[in-house]
Amino acid sequence: MTVFDDLVGQDQAIAVLSRAAAAAGEVVAGGRGAGMTHAWLFTGPPGSGREDAARAFAAALLCPDGGCGHCDQCHQVLIGSHPDLESVRPEGLSYSVKQTRELILRAAGAPTQGRWRVILFEDADRATESAANALLKAIEEPPPRTVWLLCAPAPDDMMITIRSRCRLVNLTTPGTEAVAHVLATRHSVPWETARFAARAAQGHIGRARALALDEGVRARREAVLSIPRSLTGVGECVSAAERLVKTAEEEAAAATTALNESETSELRKLYGEGSTGKGLNRGLVRGGAGALKELEDRQKSRATRIKRDSLDAALLELVSFYRDVLAMQFAAAGVELANDDLRFDLDQLAKSSTPEETLRRIDAIMQCRERLAANVNPQMAVEAMMLALRP
Ligand SMILES: [Zn+2]
Repeated sequence: MTVFDDLVGQDQAIAVLSRAAAAAGEVVAGGRGAGMTHAWLFTGPPGSGREDAARAFAAALLCPDGGCGHCDQCHQVLIGSHPDLESVRPEGLSYSVKQTRELILRAAGAPTQGRWRVILFEDADRATESAANALLKAIEEPPPRTVWLLCAPAPDDMMITIRSRCRLVNLTTPGTEAVAHVLATRHSVPWETARFAARAAQGHIGRARALALDEGVRARREAVLSIPRSLTGVGECVSAAERLVKTAEEEAAAATTALNESETSELRKLYGEGSTGKGLNRGLVRGGAGALKELEDRQKSRATRIKRDSLDAALLELVSFYRDVLAMQFAAAGVELANDDLRFDLDQLAKSSTPEETLRRIDAIMQCRERLAANVNPQMAVEAMMLALRP
């Protein structure tokens, strides 16, 4: 077993990364290590496992055995506690230049365990322009033992000056069978559930894992996919929009509440909050109120991002529903239905509408996604979409 075993259907990337890890080992041993590079860009469609691949590579660099998968070093990387691995994701909708500069400073330190200092930059495409410029400078002149691992959907998402300094690792969408196999063998999911989850997630591994293991996620999917049949009138459209937006809000709240509380209490401790006193800022030493305000702003921005991502995921689920309808309307042979468990609904809609109507509906959903990305009020954008989906 090695740390690369979990990268489903990515044989080509694994070959490149294993060779590079071996070269990195030579460098640590005092050799030349031809083939090792200081900046890497992991690209691939959502769910192809960009971060998983980058993390596995980090383990291969930090493990004395090139990523054995069972030593302390590997384990620490995989659970995110290795002292020589800095893993960052944008706190809000984007990386600020401040967040990036702090990271660059930490990246410059020497490795504590004598091997490498690895910086894993998730969603690097979300760096603001000034943050990207700061990043570029860091990549241009890397300290000898620092390795940058950037993740982005496509090479074009990064500015060309950064892209041209990185070695590219492109990941592909794994097939249903490969994903189901991982769920069944590594997570002990029953085969039937594994196949259902892999199909419904359409090659998105994280999503497949969540669908297979989390009942709440399955219930939310069912709620989203029951929308098309519920849109019988204008009132139903408005209330379906309300439900969808509210679900996204609840999901964001569930993901952030506990985290927010522990961050806040930690900060208050840091600024020496007294155990007595009622007012919010009572007993905080100088600077505490400002820091608390800054933390609250960051938390708000993070909640906005999670809410937007969750709404977008629901919209993509609806797209997959109508894409299935279209496949049935064209009686496309050999096309696997993502939502095979809803065959009855799909069939009814396929028979009662034309392919043109289905295409128009898919367009309406895509337009809604664009409008949400452009900061249109979610309720308004989703409502307009629901009305366009109505039979
Ligand atoms: Zn190891």
